[in-house]
Amino acid sequence: MEEIKKIVCCGCAPRCPAFVRVKDGKVVEQFFNKADDSPMQKYYSIISKSCARSRAAPEVVDHPQRLNFPLKRVGERGSNKWKRVHWDEALDDIANKLQEVREQFGPEGVGFNVAGDSGNSPIEYQRRFMNLFGSPSFASHSQV
Ligand code: SF4
Repeated sequence: MEEIKKIVCCGCAPRCPAFVRVKDGKVVEQFFNKADDSPMQKYYSIISKSCARSRAAPEVVDHPQRLNFPLKRVGERGSNKWKRVHWDEALDDIANKLQEVREQFGPEGVGFNVAGDSGNSPIEYQRRFMNLFGSPSFASHSQV
């Protein structure tokens, strides 16, 4: 079965309105459609049928090496040895490490550098977290 769905792409900052072609439950194509009534959709469809990142969307969504769960390093750094851990363990480890750094260096000792305003890591939540944590040490692709 094949269907077309209207989506908001979270591949990067603009959050473009777009469409995906879904075949047997899998995304097989993402595209813009100038017949759509949204002005942004018309604008983008004039520029291109899609952007390079959105053309890669089907591969990103279903790639067999996509990381969908936490991994913990178990070997020496660089040895590429990992074990899968539960989300609770991963979150506890991260919380404990953040606490350790805060106690030793103060909240400013933790800095965040986010890889752009991607849909997978919205900057708004990260900034909010940094405010609550008490650190101004925040940078994104803009500063870099
Ligand atoms: S990846 Fe492309 S379609 Fe998606 S939000 Fe970015 S520019 Fe728009």
